[in-house]
Amino acid sequence: MRKVYLDHSATTPVRSEVAELVLRYMTDTFGNPSSVHGFGREARKGVEEARERVASLINADPREIVFTSGGTEADNLAIKGVALANRKKGRHIITSAIEHHAVLHTCEFLEKEGYEVTVLGVDSAGLVSPDDLKAALRDDTILVSIMMANNEMGAIQPIKELAAIARERGVYFHTDAVQAVGQVKVDVEELGVDLLSLSAHKIYGPKGVGALYVRRGTKIKPIAHGGGHERRMRAGTENVPGIVGLGLAAKLAQEELEDRRRHLLKLRDKLIEGILDRVEDVRLNGPREERLPNNVNISFAYVEGESILLNLDLQGIAASSGSACTSGSLEPSHVLLAMGISHELAHGSVRMSLGTGNSEEDIDYVLEVLPSIIERLRSMSPLVGGRGEEKLQHVQR
Ligand SMILES: *Cc1c(COP(=O)(O)O)cnc(C)c1O
Repeated sequence: MRKVYLDHSATTPVRSEVAELVLRYMTDTFGNPSSVHGFGREARKGVEEARERVASLINADPREIVFTSGGTEADNLAIKGVALANRKKGRHIITSAIEHHAVLHTCEFLEKEGYEVTVLGVDSAGLVSPDDLKAALRDDTILVSIMMANNEMGAIQPIKELAAIARERGVYFHTDAVQAVGQVKVDVEELGVDLLSLSAHKIYGPKGVGALYVRRGTKIKPIAHGGGHERRMRAGTENVPGIVGLGLAAKLAQEELEDRRRHLLKLRDKLIEGILDRVEDVRLNGPREERLPNNVNISFAYVEGESILLNLDLQGIAASSGSACTSGSLEPSHVLLAMGISHELAHGSVRMSLGTGNSEEDIDYVLEVLPSIIERLRSMSPLVGGRGEEKLQHVQR
C-alpha cells in the first residue's frame, strides 16, 4: 500500500545528512563543550558553527541565539524570562487566541502568578488585527507574543506591522515562528521582533532541540539555573548532537527555501482545489493568500474529523485533526473556534501538512481516496438527516 505522510506540522523526518552529523557528534566528537581539552574544543566548535547557521537563517547575530530543548522551551523562556525581568515596569502581557499551547499555557501560568493577560481574537480567516493590538496596549504592558504562522490552519500574521506597533510603545515583541522558519522568509531585522522561537524537528532536524532569538539589549532572565551555559541564559550541558543537527537543518533550509516553497505551493494548491472540486459542503479554514505553503485545513460538514483520519490511515495516509497535542481530546480546536467556526465544523476538520518529500502522485492518491471516504461516512452520518431544509449556511467554498 502507498504510504503518504501529510503531518509535517507535527514533525518532519530528519534529513539523512543531518542524521549522519548527529551520529558523528554522539560517537566521535562526544566531548563536553565546556571542557578545555581537545575533545571539548571540537564539540564547542560544532556548537558555535551551528549557532552561526541558525543566526544566518533568520538574519541575527550568533550572540543573539540561545539553544533550548525545542520550541516549547523557547516560548517559555521568552515569555517567563521577559515577565520576570520586567515586572517592575509592569505585569501586562498581550497574546492571541490562536497561539500554540506552549504560549497560551505559559500565559495562563503567569496569570496565576499575578500577571494580567489580554488575549486578542482573530477574524474569520484567523488573522490578528493591528488595530486590536493598538487598543490593547497599556502603560504597564511589557510583552506582546503573537505567532508568525499558525500550526493548525497556516495563517501568516502581519508580524512586521504588529511588532512596529509594540516597539513604538517600548514593548517587547515575541513571535513563535516554529512553523514559519524554513517555509517562508524569516528576517528578525525586517520583522523588527525582539524574541523569536524556532524548533529543529519542524525543519527536518532532530526532536528535542530548538532556539530562542533574543535581540541584544533585551531585558530577560533565565528560567533554568545552574552553570553559565548559553551566556547564562540556559544552564545545562549543551545537547551537542541536537544542536549541530539543528545547525545543518537550518543551513539546508536557508539554501533550499525558494525551491521548497515552490514545490509545496504547487502541491498545496493542487490538494485544495482538488478537494473543493470533488467534495461538496466543505470549507477551507484559514486564509487563502497569507497562508503557509504546506498547510491545508478543511472542514467536512456532517462528519467527524477523527473518523476521516482513521479511514485515511487505513489507506496509508497520515493526516491530523487540529494539532498533535490536542488530538485524542474531545475538545474541538481552540484555533478554529476562535475563528468563529461552529463546533460541528471544527469537529469535522482535517489538517494535511505537506513536506519536501511529498510528490504530485501523493496528492493524486489522496484525491482518489478521500472523496469516497467522505461519501461513505456521510451516508452513515445521523447529522446528514436535516440536510434538505437546513443545509448548513456557514458551509461555503
Ligand atoms: C511544534 C510547535 C511548537 C513546539 O515545539 P517543540 O519543539 O515540539 O517543543 C511550538 N509552537 C508551534 C507553532 C509549533 O508548531
